[in-house]
Amino acid sequence: MYILNRKKAEIKSNERFKKLKIKMKIALLLSVIGISSSSFFLFPFKMQQEIKAQVKKEIQLQKEIEDTLITIVAVGDIMMGTNYPNESYLPPNNLFLLNPMHEFLQQADVTFGNLEGTILNSGGKVKSCSDPSKCYAFRQPEYFVSHLKTAGFDFLSMANNHMGDFGQEGRDNTARILRENGFRFAGLETCPWDTLTVKGVTIGMTAFAPNTACLQITDYTTLQSVVSKLNSFCDIVIVSFHGGAEGSGKTHVTRKTEIFYEENRGNVYEFARIAIDAGADVVLGHGPHVTRAIDSYKGKFIAYSMGNFCTYGRFNLNGVSGMAPLFQLRLTKKGEFVDGRIIATKQLGEGGPVLDETNGALEQIKTLTGTDIPELKVEYGENGRFKFN
Ligand SMILES: [Zn+2]
Repeated sequence: MYILNRKKAEIKSNERFKKLKIKMKIALLLSVIGISSSSFFLFPFKMQQEIKAQVKKEIQLQKEIEDTLITIVAVGDIMMGTNYPNESYLPPNNLFLLNPMHEFLQQADVTFGNLEGTILNSGGKVKSCSDPSKCYAFRQPEYFVSHLKTAGFDFLSMANNHMGDFGQEGRDNTARILRENGFRFAGLETCPWDTLTVKGVTIGMTAFAPNTACLQITDYTTLQSVVSKLNSFCDIVIVSFHGGAEGSGKTHVTRKTEIFYEENRGNVYEFARIAIDAGADVVLGHGPHVTRAIDSYKGKFIAYSMGNFCTYGRFNLNGVSGMAPLFQLRLTKKGEFVDGRIIATKQLGEGGPVLDETNGALEQIKTLTGTDIPELKVEYGENGRFKFN
């Protein structure tokens, strides 16, 4: 009986213990749910605040860095269509060929391009051509000026082989309409250089080519005097050249004088060094209609050829001729190169730039720079970013 009672008592206490355990488990579960539910509401809020503060801090830091830097966007040849020999060589329906590139062209303090053709609605003395249907004489209608303006261009080079396609009338009209629309332009004997002030920084630009009425790419005396003059009152000096032999077989920087169709197209390697020795901070080349290597001399940036950026008809856009880089360069306000980014673009059909998802121009620059300027130490980062070591 005693044993039985004891057993009963044990069973009872076991049951009580079990009940207690269950109660404890429920309490534990409830407290866990309580904590989790409170953290479910509290933690994300806290985290959101922290992330927001962090992002704000990063944006502020980025802005402070940006404020100390000047961003230059640079592209090569621009010829958006010609009304000579007739209007069938113009893009249909006033198509804005530069439109796909606006966001990249506009994200800069200064945007530069080579205007590879005169701006003139009609008339002018066309250069002599034996067969007008095969004559590459470029006369861009005046409404293209609004395209350049909307796209964000500031500086345009007029030193090239097509600025004289319609004689002095073509050059004068181009200068007039560019001036009226607030562009800065340079490269002719009549307008050798120009300046622009942005963020309190004065930027000077000059341009050279082997063509009539242009500052001559082989005239180092003029190069030195114009660049020295600009350097005496500008914070940053940009020197542009239209030089070197052209075509898909001319992608290399030879470090020699390049003769093409019996014309001295300059020694672009030497030209860039003389420009920098005289005070240039950035040297921007074009003319070969293909992409060439990049370089650095005394810490300054050189692009030997930026290729066909925005053309319409009349241009060979096959293979490497249809690819071009858009350079985003960051400089200190004193003109020291900080870093850059290469946005690869391509032209399809009759022309007009779009982003090149295969990064053709970037890969070409990597390869050509490795081959032609092997001593240069370039560090390539993500999304086409690069700097020199
Ligand atoms: Zn040209």
